[in-house]
Amino acid sequence: MIRTGYYPGGKPGALTLSYDDGREYDRRLVEIMNRYGLKGTFHLNSANLGRPGYVTGEELAELYAGHEISCHTCTHPFLPRMSREAMLAEIWEDRRALESYAGRPVVSMSYPFGDYDAQVQETLRACGLLYSRTVRSTYSYSLPEDFTAWHPTCHHREDVLARLDHFLSYIGRFRGGRVLYVWGHSYEFHDNDNWDLIEEFCRKAAAAADRVWFATGLEIYDYARAVSMLRFDAGMTQATNLSGQTVWLEVDGQVVPVTPGETVRSLSGR
Ligand SMILES: [Zn+2]
Repeated sequence: MIRTGYYPGGKPGALTLSYDDGREYDRRLVEIMNRYGLKGTFHLNSANLGRPGYVTGEELAELYAGHEISCHTCTHPFLPRMSREAMLAEIWEDRRALESYAGRPVVSMSYPFGDYDAQVQETLRACGLLYSRTVRSTYSYSLPEDFTAWHPTCHHREDVLARLDHFLSYIGRFRGGRVLYVWGHSYEFHDNDNWDLIEEFCRKAAAAADRVWFATGLEIYDYARAVSMLRFDAGMTQATNLSGQTVWLEVDGQVVPVTPGETVRSLSGR
């Protein structure tokens, strides 16, 4: 019998942080995350780069090294109220500007104000973006059916330390590629003077690094895609990894890495 539901290293859960707006407090947040080895995605408005209180374009590549740089539109408008042309420019030009600083593809987004509709999603896809985060908390750990409306688990103000405890006990009991997806703005830690909250969250998460994969949103998206490209037989006795990255599978009770192109076989079917 072959089962999915494991992340790199054979870990049962993934954790990602998603922070919007690119204010100067991202520097302190990134420093804390880096100290504990956590990964995240930073959604930036390119028109604000270099303005007072915001990070600069020139520092993006170094500041967010190891993390994901992501779109949040050029000027942070309510997208559904815009003409198709203006909407397209807000997303496409943001992608172009961020890529010029980042020096790598920028392929995701979060919706300003969490506001979107079907036309926004269609425009996002037309711009070549792969996923976009909303602001609707699910309090669950499932991957989305539609990555262009990827709802987070919760905002960090929603009792995030208790949520982490719950997540850690949950992944100990249930398989299935679970994700704890936390979002917010770094300026909230400044405004509410609660940097200790994210410090404690990172410290607790790092203590569970043997069970939790720390990843960017894109890394989770890419891994989910690789899993979806596995080819099984009907009896779940063999699986071929058709993707370009290693995927972890449980084969007859043992969790093993399956390299690109490799086929694994089980001794017993379902
Ligand atoms: Zn925003």
